Amino acid sequence: MVTKETKQKIEELRKKLHRWNHAYYVLDNPEVDDAVYDAVMRELIELEKKYPELVTPDSPSLRIGTEPVSIFKKVTHKTPLYSLDNAVSFEELEEWEERIFRVLGGKQDIDYVCEMKIDGLAVALTYKDSLLTLGATRGDGDVGEDVTNNIKTIKSIPLILNKSVNGLLEVRGEVFMPIKSFEKLNNEQKEKEEKIFANPRNAASGSLRQYDSRITANRDLDIFIYAGVWDACVIASPLARNDRLPTTHWESLQMLYELGFKINKTSKLCHNLKEVRDFCNVWYEKKRELPYAIDGVVIKVNNLSLHEELGFTAKSPRWAIAYKYPPEEAKTKVLSISCDVGRTGALTPVANLEPVLLAGTVVKRASLHNQDIIDKLDVREGDIVTVRKAGEIIPEVVEVDKEKRHHKKEKYKLPSKCPVCHSRIEREEDESALRCVNFNCPAQVQRRIDHWCSRDAMDVDGVGESLIEQLFKNKLINDPIDLYFLKQKDLEELERMAEKSATNAITSIQNSKNRTLDRLIYAFGIRHVGKTIAELLSSRIHSIEELSDASLDELIKIDGIGPKIAKSIVDYFSTTYSKQMIEKLKKAGIKPEVKKIKRKESEISGKTLVVTGILESLTRNEAEELIKNHGARAASSISRNTDYLVCGSDPGSKLTKAKEFGIPVLTEQEFLKLVK
Ligand SMILES: [Zn+2]
Repeated sequence: MVTKETKQKIEELRKKLHRWNHAYYVLDNPEVDDAVYDAVMRELIELEKKYPELVTPDSPSLRIGTEPVSIFKKVTHKTPLYSLDNAVSFEELEEWEERIFRVLGGKQDIDYVCEMKIDGLAVALTYKDSLLTLGATRGDGDVGEDVTNNIKTIKSIPLILNKSVNGLLEVRGEVFMPIKSFEKLNNEQKEKEEKIFANPRNAASGSLRQYDSRITANRDLDIFIYAGVWDACVIASPLARNDRLPTTHWESLQMLYELGFKINKTSKLCHNLKEVRDFCNVWYEKKRELPYAIDGVVIKVNNLSLHEELGFTAKSPRWAIAYKYPPEEAKTKVLSISCDVGRTGALTPVANLEPVLLAGTVVKRASLHNQDIIDKLDVREGDIVTVRKAGEIIPEVVEVDKEKRHHKKEKYKLPSKCPVCHSRIEREEDESALRCVNFNCPAQVQRRIDHWCSRDAMDVDGVGESLIEQLFKNKLINDPIDLYFLKQKDLEELERMAEKSATNAITSIQNSKNRTLDRLIYAFGIRHVGKTIAELLSSRIHSIEELSDASLDELIKIDGIGPKIAKSIVDYFSTTYSKQMIEKLKKAGIKPEVKKIKRKESEISGKTLVVTGILESLTRNEAEELIKNHGARAASSISRNTDYLVCGSDPGSKLTKAKEFGIPVLTEQEFLKLVK
């Protein structure tokens, strides 16, 4: 039975979360700490679990995603999302204005609004009586896909409007992924050996179009709203500016902002084409300061009644145009094609280029990814190619100028043997990468040591790639831990090694002995174990030894560790190499710093507990946290090793199983007494 108090409580929590969310993601002015936000969100989720009938379509709990769907429903847009005509020069902008004058029957003063053209994907969001009811992709402009559940996970999109609007309000915006998040995602994808996104737009599109909205929720997507379709709605509660519908595009943007939407603050109202031109020029110079990728500026006529007058061509509005910045491309010559061998033996073909200035940096190498891409481009040594830099990622070869090919070089084939150690090359099933099979391949050994020293791993900043190469060639190191046995003298005897850099290197090696466990796990360079997974493991496992002893079953039980990762870990620790590493770790005195959690001694210390059902005063997570803080283990399922089952209401199968095994069952009160 749902009480009035419960309903009120839920209502209250939602209001708080909506307000905090808006303050954080739209106004960029947080009102509370993340921890407070999380705690209130957890409280709401627990209540909704208990009373599923009270879940509403605007509940902030939908931000974390919902059950996956098997297809996206098609959505026919009420008003089509037109594409824009492009201008690539200021002359073309002037011609556009001329065309406007012709339609309007003469020259006149026109205000324009300039907005960043963001490299993302367009969506249409429908609000019915202030409530978000539909989120759809642009698709072909007429028909898109219903991605409402995914849209709801984007935190800068209001689920309910700040002010009351009756009827239907449709808004359009550009969903994008900030450059930093894009780079982070690609790093994670690389660690997991999953698909790398070519640019932020692909990443945004791939993330939004996930059948499982929980994946979307974990991708850092954002949005700028740039238009409203106002003709089917009535503004019920007056806005600060007015309670009538907007008459200019600029006014429309301000009203959208008041309703709770995130609009782009860089947008500018210009009073003539010269101001537009200045805006374009200024941002061309400054575009790298923006946290997201743009490829131009969208220019719109400000007066909405002129929109009516100007209308549309067959495919685009006459009142708007996209001014495109020249792409960051340059032509240069491929001097040679070589093949890098990575830490796990993966071969990556690379074009070595005649140095060329591109987007403010000198580019000497461009990735060719794999044989398929080389074949598609048909790139050969000696070719003149176009290289492009998108965002901050590694430059790519996008095109070969075949007209300028005056050599008779053959097509490039990836080597059939490792270019470094001449061992066999293998392609694993379901994988595009070719790998050198020799674990002792000098390239692999050195890359492993590089990885160990990298900033996110053991952060040994005095030891770089070239020093590692020198040490390796002089047979002073053969694995990362050898670094810790180096003497000052060993380094000083190396060529071109100053006393000071030798001291620096030794100091930074020694200083890295007590990094945290997550860094140590990551430093081992186990396949599929990236930074995030290493952090997850370190929160459940107390030492490298414990990790090396963990069975497949134990690992899979950890939420977030799938069979592929678990198998990779078990395989890794079954090798002689890993066993030697662990032995040497001790000798070298490498001991991870234990994150200090105040552990309290109590009756449950050292025991294994499982929590099930709904507890009254604690969430499941809080209960498990409490268990860990008392030096006990919180397991996710019942086994013969379980000491206690903490049982709330609606316990399910765990209670049956516990009884079967004769495991003592604690009520919430009994449990709380034990940990007091
Ligand atoms: Zn090799």
